[in-house]
Order: sequence, then C-alpha cells, then structure tokens
Amino acid sequence: MTDMIPFIDLKAQRARIRERIDIAVAKVLDEGRYVLGPEVSELEAKLADFAGIGRALSCANGTDAILIPLMAWGIGPGDAVFVPSFTFASTAEVVVLAGASPVFVDIDPDTYNMAPASLESAIARVKADGKLNPRAVIAVDLFGQPADYPALAPVAREHGLKLVSDCAQGFGCTLNGQSPLHWADVLTISFYPAKPLGAYGDGGAVLCKDDDLFDVMKSVRVHGEGATRYEYARIGLNSRLDTIQAAILLAKLDVFAGEIEARQRVADAYQAGFGNAVKCPRTIAGAQSTWAQYTIESGNRDAFRTHLADKGVPSAIYYPIPLHKHAPYAGFPVAPGGLPVTEAAADRVVSLPMHPDMPADHIDRVIDAVTGFVA
Ligand SMILES: *Cc1c(COP(=O)(O)O)cnc(C)c1O
Repeated sequence: MTDMIPFIDLKAQRARIRERIDIAVAKVLDEGRYVLGPEVSELEAKLADFAGIGRALSCANGTDAILIPLMAWGIGPGDAVFVPSFTFASTAEVVVLAGASPVFVDIDPDTYNMAPASLESAIARVKADGKLNPRAVIAVDLFGQPADYPALAPVAREHGLKLVSDCAQGFGCTLNGQSPLHWADVLTISFYPAKPLGAYGDGGAVLCKDDDLFDVMKSVRVHGEGATRYEYARIGLNSRLDTIQAAILLAKLDVFAGEIEARQRVADAYQAGFGNAVKCPRTIAGAQSTWAQYTIESGNRDAFRTHLADKGVPSAIYYPIPLHKHAPYAGFPVAPGGLPVTEAAADRVVSLPMHPDMPADHIDRVIDAVTGFVA
C-alpha cells in the first residue's frame, strides 16, 4: 500500500510560516484583548486593501458573512433569493435562516458557476408566479474562480436585485484584474482552515462599497447594537472575530499573494501533464482563480477514485448531491426546466490534491495516476 500524499497540507504551511504566526499569537495573548482587539480592525483594513476596493467587516464565519448583509437589507418572509444548487450548504441556508425562500438556478457546464440565462428564466418564473418578491442573487465563486459577473450584474440591476459574491472559496480571485466586489454589492469570505486564506479556527468577513450598508452590517454583527452600547436598533447576531484568528490571518495575508501564484503553478503543471486525457478546469476569459479546488470530471468516477487511491492520491467530491436534492431544501423552487447541468456535474466531478506547498514529486504522482487510469 503506497502512502497517501496530502490533499491539502496545512502542516507544511504551518512549518513555512511558524515563526511569524507564533509571534503574532503570543502578542495577542499578552495584550489580552481577545475579541475585536486591535488586530481585528487592522485585518479589516488589510482585507479591503488586498481586494483593492470597499471596506471589510470581519465576523465569526463565512456563513454569517452572507447572512449579515441579507439581514441588513431586511430580506425576509415572502422574498426570493436566487442561488446556485451546486455549492456548499451555507449559500442557501442563510436565505432560509433570514426567513426568505431560495430559488435554485442552474450552472455553466465548464465553470460550474451560476448560468446567467438560467438566472433570467428563474427571475421571470418567480415574477410570473407572483408569490415571492425577488430581492437578491447570491453568485458563488466556486472552486476559487469568479462567477460571470459582467453577465450576472446587468441581470441583477435590471430587476433591482442585490448581488452577493459568495467568495468563501475565492477571496483574492479577480476578473480582468478586479475583485468581484467591483460588480457585486457585497463580497463574503470564509476563513475556515481549509479555504485558501484559512485561519486556525472559524472566521469570516463581508466587504461592501456603501458606508450606510457597512454601518447597518456592523450593528447586525453585534446584537443589532445602536448608537450606544446596550441600546438595540434591530435584531442581530453575535458574530465577532476572535483577535487570535485576526492575528493569524494578518500573518497569512502577508504570504497570500505568493500562495495564489504557487497554486496557479500547480494548476498549470496539472493542465500540461493531463493534456486532453481529462476535462481540465476552464476559467472564463480574464479570470484569475485562487484554486481552492482543482476539479476534473470522470464518467467512471468510483473506479477512477479507487485507482487514484491505489496510487496514493486522495480525491474528494464537491459536491455529490446538489442542495435542491436534500430534504430541507426540496420544497423550494428551481429554475424552469430544472437543473440538468447541476445534476450532471454532481455525478462527474472529482477534486484532486491542491495546495501551495505541493512538491514536484507529488504533482508528478497525481499526473501519473490520472493519465494512467485514462490509458
Ligand atoms: C465554506 C463556504 C461557506 C461557509 O463558510 P464557513 O466559514 O464554513 O461558515 C459558504 N459558502 C461557500 C461556497 C463555502 O465554500
């Protein structure tokens, strides 16, 4: 039995940046401002700098990061929010938590991101039915690549809908050099450890361009606080970021641009090595992905994954069952004609090892294992 190479190697990253992390954490412990300490506002400023646009508000996790703007906009019962089904649970879950109804939209077969045509027909269906009030679109930057914002944003604008970039996997991705926030009203991030910019625990952030929205979201983050403490202007959450996590993220942000480049090098090596043997990921023109996942397709997935495992190559399936097929979401509307592209992708996708510390011999092992199965 061959040893398994890592799928994501957080220990290698830890070794590479050990000293700067340990110093940053020790400083927080010594200073004793464990929640919303000075490192939290420093991180918020640096996140906005990194995005090159907007202001950042940190919060407890990437799920709250999407829920907070929905609450700030007053989205609730009777409202429709258009979401992909080929995504992590949070994207639709927050809509239900806010009291609104998710409406599931199909994806593009090459990028797995929301298909603008499916969005348009879903909006038309909801309007024709007249039961729900369309309020927002949540586009996901799946596997790290920006959704097709130049096509999605005009649709959202035409119908007066807010546009959210669920950038949990894609913070740092760009389209023609610009952050998704250039097109979206808000951009949300997850710092879950396995995400490209991961903390050593949970964390999240939401970026926006509008100062009034920022102030309302800031209030929502801490119990709906008003102008003074213990005065409440609205119903909110307890969704603060720990100072230790902010300090860790500040240290990681210093090396993050280099890590995105390192992930791109792995993706380039895979693409060159796989050639036409498998369907490689496709990015839209002008897109820079953060390569949260490197996802290919196989029509014979179980046998393919068994073959990879025999060669010491782990794999994962994101996502085996689209959200609209799970019991808690089965009652919500889907775009006219259903979600055939989503369902086909869920049966075929396989994600391969991907992280910035991947040594050349591990990359070669993945390439040999993948091309060996196809041969
Ligand atoms: C991880 C993820 C989230 C949620 O982030 P948490 O920090 O785990 O709450 C939301 N959306 C997508 C697409 C994700 O991948």
